[in-house]
Amino acid sequence: MNKKKGTVLITGASRGIGKATARLFALKGYQVAINYHQNKEAAQHLAEELSSISPALAIGADVSNRTDVDAMVDKVQHYFGPIDILVNNAGIAKQGLFTDFTPEQWQRMFDVNITGMFHCCQAVLPAMIHQKAGKIINLSSIWGITGASCEVPYSATKAAVIGMTKALAKELGPSGIQVNCVAPGVIDTDMNGMLDNDTIQCLKDETPLGTIGTPEDIAQTILFLASDHAKFITGQVISPNGGFVI
Ligand code: NAP
Repeated sequence: MNKKKGTVLITGASRGIGKATARLFALKGYQVAINYHQNKEAAQHLAEELSSISPALAIGADVSNRTDVDAMVDKVQHYFGPIDILVNNAGIAKQGLFTDFTPEQWQRMFDVNITGMFHCCQAVLPAMIHQKAGKIINLSSIWGITGASCEVPYSATKAAVIGMTKALAKELGPSGIQVNCVAPGVIDTDMNGMLDNDTIQCLKDETPLGTIGTPEDIAQTILFLASDHAKFITGQVISPNGGFVI
């Protein structure tokens, strides 16, 4: 396929923030690789829709599985050439009392939310280092900055994302690779589907801008970090959150 503006691989792009990001990057002329885990149909439908705008490919992989990730990255590189931008967006969340979490639930949260990023970064980096260019954008959360009651495992994984981002930015800067982190506030996606209307209203009332965010708000932040406008930015945490955390 002809190389367009660049190639982006977005993990967890079948729904929510990842889907909005895939759509925005396609509109801006990037070749878009849409990773999914369970929602193959949604990802394929999105790829078909975006293909009329820009080359797009749906690829299944459980990011916590190294074999899956290596096969995914090989396939993207085969179709589109080297990956210029990796958006580590795939994530899971679970609410509950800390004392009720099982070791298996704790482990799964880390396997997907942080080990998944480890696998994806290691898979794309040889080509990025060879090119002496690349951008990695990792999704954390405000809860990774402040901690959230009844979301201890999730908060711990999202704090780990920030540590990984900063350390990797230092290590990869000399290779011309930028690593940044987006730490969204509360965003209207399936991940918050368990929140009732009263809780959503309380969250809006506690937010200086008086609203929760949309997936498109976060996609715009990710696009900015991937753009030349952000060429002097690395190792940073940008938190689009309506002022909920200042
Ligand atoms: P979402 O609507 O629940 O979608 C999650 C996405 O991750 C789906 O596309 C899902 O794929 C994918 N995924 C889950 N497990 C996966 C795995 N093992 N391998 C590959 N993909 C996997 O979530 P979201 O709200 O868009 O959140 C996206 C990211 O933003 C997450 O990292 C989340 O922690 C972070 N974030 C979200 C919020 C928020 O309020 N929504 C706030 C702060 C940070 P399938 O559907 O195909 O299984």
